[in-house]
Amino acid sequence: MRINKFLAHAGVASRRKAEELILAGRVSINGATVRELGKQVETGDSVEVNGVAVYNEEPVYFLLNKPRGYISSVSDDKGRQTVMDLMQREKARIYPVGRLDWDTSGLLLLTNDGEFTNLMTHPRHGIDKVYIAKVEGQANKINLRPLTLGMKLEGKKISPAQYEILKQDKEKNSSVVQLTIHEGQNHQVKKMFAAVGLPVKKLSRVQYGTLTLDGVPSGKYRRLNKKEVSQLV
Ligand code: URA
Repeated sequence: MRINKFLAHAGVASRRKAEELILAGRVSINGATVRELGKQVETGDSVEVNGVAVYNEEPVYFLLNKPRGYISSVSDDKGRQTVMDLMQREKARIYPVGRLDWDTSGLLLLTNDGEFTNLMTHPRHGIDKVYIAKVEGQANKINLRPLTLGMKLEGKKISPAQYEILKQDKEKNSSVVQLTIHEGQNHQVKKMFAAVGLPVKKLSRVQYGTLTLDGVPSGKYRRLNKKEVSQLV
C-alpha cells in the first residue's frame, strides 16, 4: 500500500495531509525518512510519524449485532460494558464506526481503518440507515409527515426520511415504525420521533447501506468481505 494511503487508513491524517507530512520529512519506514510520495509499505514494516510508531496491521471490518446495554466505545470510565467486551477474540485494534446509544440494539460496524471511519461518519456521505422504533402514541400519516419533509434538529438540516408503520396497538397506546434516515447525528432517530410527539421506547438499527443483520444473532458478529466494504464506500 502507498504510504499516504497507509497513513490515512491508520487514521493519522487524510491522504493529502499525509503527503504534507511526507514532504516535510516527518515520516519514516524502518528507520529511514521517506521522501517519495509513492513509497510502498508492507505489513510488518515499522512506520513512524514524528518519531511515534503507527500501528501497521491489515484493515479489517466487522458487523456486530449489538445488544441493548452496551456502550459503543472502546472503554468506559464508569466501568460499564462496552461493545469491545463482545469482540474479545479479535486481536486487531478495532473500534466502532459511529455510535449506537447504550439502549439501542442492532447493526454496528467496527474497524481499524481510520479512513473508512471518516468516510462513513462524514455528514455528506449519506448512507441509508434503517431503524425499527417502538414509540409511545399512535403513529399515523399526519403526525409522521414532518419526518418525510426534512426537518431541522438543533439547527442542523436533516434530509427527508422514509417510514413504514409496522404495527399499531391502540390498547397499549404504542406503535412500531420503520424509519430510513440518511445522516448519523447524535440520537437522531429519538430526536426526530420526539419532535413529532412520539417518544421512542425501544430502538434497533436493522440495516446499514446494503448490510443487514441476517445470520448474525444478538451479541454475535461477522467479518465483512471486500465486496461488502466496497459497496459502502
Ligand atoms: N438514533 C438514535 O436516537 N439512537 C441511536 O442509537 C441511533 C440513532
